[in-house]
Amino acid sequence: MKTIFQKIADGEIPAKIVYQDDTCVAIHDINPQAPTHVLLFPTKPIPRIAEAEDADAQILSHLMLTAPKVAKLCGLDDGFRIVINNGLIAGETVPHLHIHILGGRQLHWPPG
Ligand code: AMP
Repeated sequence: MKTIFQKIADGEIPAKIVYQDDTCVAIHDINPQAPTHVLLFPTKPIPRIAEAEDADAQILSHLMLTAPKVAKLCGLDDGFRIVINNGLIAGETVPHLHIHILGGRQLHWPPG
């Protein structure tokens, strides 16, 4: 069964797409936790970072290199935070690896 992010990548569910290439998609989060809250995910449905494999190294490096480009596209010139929730205890709700890109306000530490 497809994850919600696979359906978005395949155009079956609408989303506000910020960026897309052959490897990944970035969309605005439907329930933003900051003035800018974007989700960046690979089109390959890796369930979570703990289940990524050595064969996924190119995808993972592409995601990490793309995240700052997406932040720049969103105008987050003052800074931003990237977050990956892994597992229920960390707040993961969609079992399709995604990077949260948050910015546009002062972000506090430690996160809740
Ligand atoms: P996580 O809790 O780390 O798994 O993050 C999942 C994120 O996906 C949450 O921040 C949700 O608000 C977001 N989300 C769920 N469904 C959609 C959707 N259809 N479009 C955009 N964002 C979504």
